[in-house]
Amino acid sequence: MASPVPFDLDPRAREAARRASSRGLCDECFGRILGRAGHGLTNPERAARCAAALGLVTAPREGPCSLCLGAFDRLDLWADRALRSAEGIEWHRFTCGSRWDPEILAREEALWTEVGTEWGESARSAFNRELGKRLEARTGAAGGPDRPDVVFLADLPVGRVEVTILPVYIRGRYRKLDRTLPQTRWPCRRCRGSGCDWCGGTGKTYPTSVEEIVAGPFLKATGAAGSRFHGMGREDIDARMLGRGRPFVLELLHPCRRTIDLERTREELLPAARERVEVIDLRPAEAADVLRVKEASPEKSYRVGVLGSVPLAKVNEALNVALSRAIAQRTPARVAHRRSDRVRTRRVVAARVVEAGEGRFTLDLRTEAGTYVKEWVEGDGGRTEPSLASLVGVPLKVEFLDVLEIHDAEA
Ligand SMILES: [Zn+2]
Ligand SMILES: [Zn+2]
Repeated sequence: MASPVPFDLDPRAREAARRASSRGLCDECFGRILGRAGHGLTNPERAARCAAALGLVTAPREGPCSLCLGAFDRLDLWADRALRSAEGIEWHRFTCGSRWDPEILAREEALWTEVGTEWGESARSAFNRELGKRLEARTGAAGGPDRPDVVFLADLPVGRVEVTILPVYIRGRYRKLDRTLPQTRWPCRRCRGSGCDWCGGTGKTYPTSVEEIVAGPFLKATGAAGSRFHGMGREDIDARMLGRGRPFVLELLHPCRRTIDLERTREELLPAARERVEVIDLRPAEAADVLRVKEASPEKSYRVGVLGSVPLAKVNEALNVALSRAIAQRTPARVAHRRSDRVRTRRVVAARVVEAGEGRFTLDLRTEAGTYVKEWVEGDGGRTEPSLASLVGVPLKVEFLDVLEIHDAEA
């Protein structure tokens, strides 16, 4: 049931409609004069009811509508253009927008004032909605602002539709078993990616990365133009990532296909990943997951091999002291060239010796997010205080380091 509209009730609305009826408007534009009043009617239906209620005899319009210049008569053509712009692209949800000549929008507001309506609906929002209805009817896709696969922008003055394809997101966890593998593609330091003699023309410092191994088959499966890899932090290149692995979100840019068989695609990355990377818990994700992964600050557990001649009792004593104190860490010397130099306070929340031998011992640690573990062990030339080395009073060197667990919310 259509609800009452103001021309049934309000003399000002009747007057506004009467004035607008002589302005050479199309049914869409005429109906929109009272467009934000009541619901359940399309604008042309509203226009017809309005004309009947007021006993208006509308003279046949000559030429295009004086307001929209015929844009609403050409909605089917705009729908054709939108569909053509996304040919070969898989999409199930979409949003419509439109760009209008600002002069038309200004003329519309002036018209509302002239005829005295307070119920006018803007041409742009009506056009977007009507274009959306046509696309829904022709494709079965769902229109609306919520998580679209594509966004259509009808550029009315130019006469074409621009399509924006939104990324496909996939989340999962990776385990890294190789101590020579960076997390992300690492552009060559000399040529910054363009290719030079030093990098053998590859543009890269390392032949491959977790990112490239994981993204490869997904790029192929989606026909995406590129990808971004968002890890929940990163480990050093020479550190392994064990346990349940590190959460990541893979963002596939400008994909042609969105329906992917995750398990089959995962199988395709196995040859390149062999003995280097394991990918688990793959699931569809969304844009918000990128932020979630980037902003998480979970505690982490490590296994650290340490070189240094210290009696076991002294190590244990130092660990007890370390656990009771906050650590002041200045940005490590090794990353100071790319991060701002500041002091932050972190804690080692658990620590124990799991193995001790001649001139070496192995520790399991659990630390707050953002703790520089190598620097905490070795001292980083006094930039981390106290360090394990300063507490035992003997120089220490990290022999190896593995991340045993990321204690994120999905634990
Ligand atoms: Zn019109
Ligand atoms: Zn290079």
